[in-house]
Amino acid sequence: MPERRRWTVRDLRRDNRCVLLWSLYFDQPCSRQDLSEATGLSSASVSNVIREAIHEGIVIEAGSVDSDGGRPRVLLRINPDHGYVAGIDVGETRIRAELFDLTMTVRANADYPLEPREHGVDVVVEKILSCLSAVLRDSGVPPRAILGVGIGVPGVVEQGAEAVLYGQTYGWDGLPLERLLRAGTSLPLYIDNGANTAGLAELWFGAGQGARHAVVCLIGSGLGAGIIGNGVAERAGTSSGTEWGHTTVMVGGRDCRCGSRGHLEAYVGAEAIIDRYGLPLPRTDEESALAALVELAGTSPEAARVLDETALYLGAGIADLINLFRPDRIILGGWAGLLLGQHLLPAIRASARAHALRHPFDQTTITVGRLGPDAVARGAATLPIQAFLNGAATPRRADAADDDIRPTGTGRVG
Ligand SMILES: [Zn+2]
Repeated sequence: MPERRRWTVRDLRRDNRCVLLWSLYFDQPCSRQDLSEATGLSSASVSNVIREAIHEGIVIEAGSVDSDGGRPRVLLRINPDHGYVAGIDVGETRIRAELFDLTMTVRANADYPLEPREHGVDVVVEKILSCLSAVLRDSGVPPRAILGVGIGVPGVVEQGAEAVLYGQTYGWDGLPLERLLRAGTSLPLYIDNGANTAGLAELWFGAGQGARHAVVCLIGSGLGAGIIGNGVAERAGTSSGTEWGHTTVMVGGRDCRCGSRGHLEAYVGAEAIIDRYGLPLPRTDEESALAALVELAGTSPEAARVLDETALYLGAGIADLINLFRPDRIILGGWAGLLLGQHLLPAIRASARAHALRHPFDQTTITVGRLGPDAVARGAATLPIQAFLNGAATPRRADAADDDIRPTGTGRVG
C-alpha cells in the first residue's frame, strides 16, 4: 500500500464535496440549509461546494420553499442530464440492459432471451455488447456522456486489475470478462456479482431502505445471496456475493448443476423445482413453466407438495443466512424469488423460524423485493453512480469525439 499522503485542503474539499453529493442524491430536492444540517458542514463550506457543482452542471436549482419569516430557501437537485449510466443483468434466462439518467430514470432498455444452458463465452460477450449498443442507440445518449456501465453476473467475481469470473455451473473458470468486453467497448466497466447488485438496488431504492444490514436472496435458475452492510456490498476477500446456492442442505442429496450433491440450489433453484415436479407443464421456458406450476398448486396435490417442500428448503437456507450473518432484513428477489415469495412467504417464514436460532431470527424480517426483476440491472447501474458521487467518474469533455473514448477507471468503485 502506498504511504498515506499528507492531508491537504484539497483532500478536505474533495471529501466535503463527496459527503454533500451523497446527501443531496438521497434527499433531493433540498436546500443548502438542509444539507448543512444533514452533513454537519458549515454553511460556508456547503455554499462553496454547491457553487462549484452548479458551475460544473452537476447540481441545478429546482424552485424554492418559504422559510419561517426569512428569505425563501432555494431547492437543489442533481442534474439528471449531467451524465448517464447503463446497468446490465447477465441472468440465466436473459440478458437485460437499461440506460438511466443520473437520477435513475430509465431512458432505454433492451432484453435478449438466453437459453438456460446457452452460456458459451462468445454468446454472452456478444449479447452484452449488443444490449449495450441497443440502449445507447435507442436513448440517443452519446457514449461520451456515459459515466460507466455496471454489469451484474452470476458466480464469483474476482476484482483485480481486470474483473475475472468463476461460474462453475457454466464452466467459467477464470473467465476474463472485462478483457473480452474491452474488445467491443472502451466505456468504463464495473462488474460485480448479480446478487450484490440486486442488493444494492433494494437497499437504495426498494425493500432494503433503512436496513442496517440486509441480505438479498437472488433466486432464478440458480441462487445467490448478496450481503449488504451500511449501503455497501461487503466483499469477503476477493469474492463478491455469496455462493449460497451451493451450501449443502442434504448430504448425498440431489445432483447439483455445479457437479456436487445436496446443494440448496438443487432443491430451490427454478430449474430444480421444475425437475422435482417431473410432470409435463403447459409451457416449456423456465419462467413460464414455474409460473404454471405455482398456478397448478391450487388444484394439483403433486404441485402443492413440491412447492411446500420448496418453502421448507428455502426457509432452512434462509435460517443459515440468519444464523451466519444476523441481518436485520432478508429480501427475496430474482424472478423466481419474487414469484415464490409472493405465494409462499408465510411457509418460508415458518421454516426459517423453525431452523434458525431464536435470537437472531427475532431481529430480522423476511420480505419480498419491491423492485421487480430489473433489480440486478438497476443495482449494477448504481456502481458507476457510486464512483461518480465519490468523485472517481466524470463524463468526458463535451468536445471529445465519441470514437476517442478511453477507459477512465479499472472497473472498480473508487
Ligand atoms: Zn452446487
